[in-house]
Amino acid sequence: MDQLFDPTDDVATPTIVDGVNVLGSLSPSRAADFMTCPLLYRFRTIDRLPEKPSSAAARGTVVHSVLERLYDEPAPERTLTRAVELLRPRWEALCEEEPELASLFEGDDALDHTQWLAECGSLLETYFRLEDPQRLEPAERELYVEHVLDSKLLIRGYIDRVDVAPTGEVRVVDYKSGRSPSELFEAKALFQMKFYALVLWRTRATIPTLLQLIYLGNGEVLRYAPDEADLRATERKVNALWAAITRATESGNWPARKNPLCGWCDHKALCPEWGGTPPPLPSEEDAAAAEELPPVDGVSSYSG
Ligand code: SF4
Repeated sequence: MDQLFDPTDDVATPTIVDGVNVLGSLSPSRAADFMTCPLLYRFRTIDRLPEKPSSAAARGTVVHSVLERLYDEPAPERTLTRAVELLRPRWEALCEEEPELASLFEGDDALDHTQWLAECGSLLETYFRLEDPQRLEPAERELYVEHVLDSKLLIRGYIDRVDVAPTGEVRVVDYKSGRSPSELFEAKALFQMKFYALVLWRTRATIPTLLQLIYLGNGEVLRYAPDEADLRATERKVNALWAAITRATESGNWPARKNPLCGWCDHKALCPEWGGTPPPLPSEEDAAAAEELPPVDGVSSYSG
């Protein structure tokens, strides 16, 4: 899911889930942040620094929302015309939830609303070239999944779509509003999908048959059939990542790692790699008072 915010932001504060005192929680997005740049993870997860809405992320969010709602329609009405009709009301609903989105269309750098909606429409057109929603009946959409690993780390996230064949095979689908990665970066893209597959395997005792990433930016589809060895390796990787995050939390050492995404990083001015100085780490009291996260299994958790 490439959306404006990830409501499964991670926590380092102990929380009880299913009777287990979990050590922390990790979503694929925040895991990807840490792998890309530990300082970026710190800014987003520990300092919780605000980030400006971006046109690309907003496009992804509204297109995801339309594709989710489209499947509420009876199958014969799941047409491109209907999907495009849903764009404006979905966008207005998102702006009500997050009023700061309106800033994209204000000021000197204001986007042209009509043109921006047309760009969203062209992503939907691409979607209809890749799949026929009249022939699909997803088992789940925007599915929240979580699982506590033996290491007591809670892994969680939202899966865009899960399809289950009459014969029982499970397909995990994720929509991306950008372009497909080069072969060099495919493994990174698939990590998120293997992460979801791991949670589904652990919670449902079934290994998904297929992981499918649909890139609406260039109309490519990346497919991968995971096996048990893949998912065990993913679990080891997730645990190793959490161990590295824990070491950074304890030492306060969050190195900046220059990377091709720095150009889009909102925190360049605070980054030593670009001549900036990070703010002091928040105190434990500030962390305890930090924003409340969505409840997990009826237990509220707090950011750390
Ligand atoms: S600018 Fe680059 S190196 Fe610095 S925090 Fe952002 S992603 Fe990391």
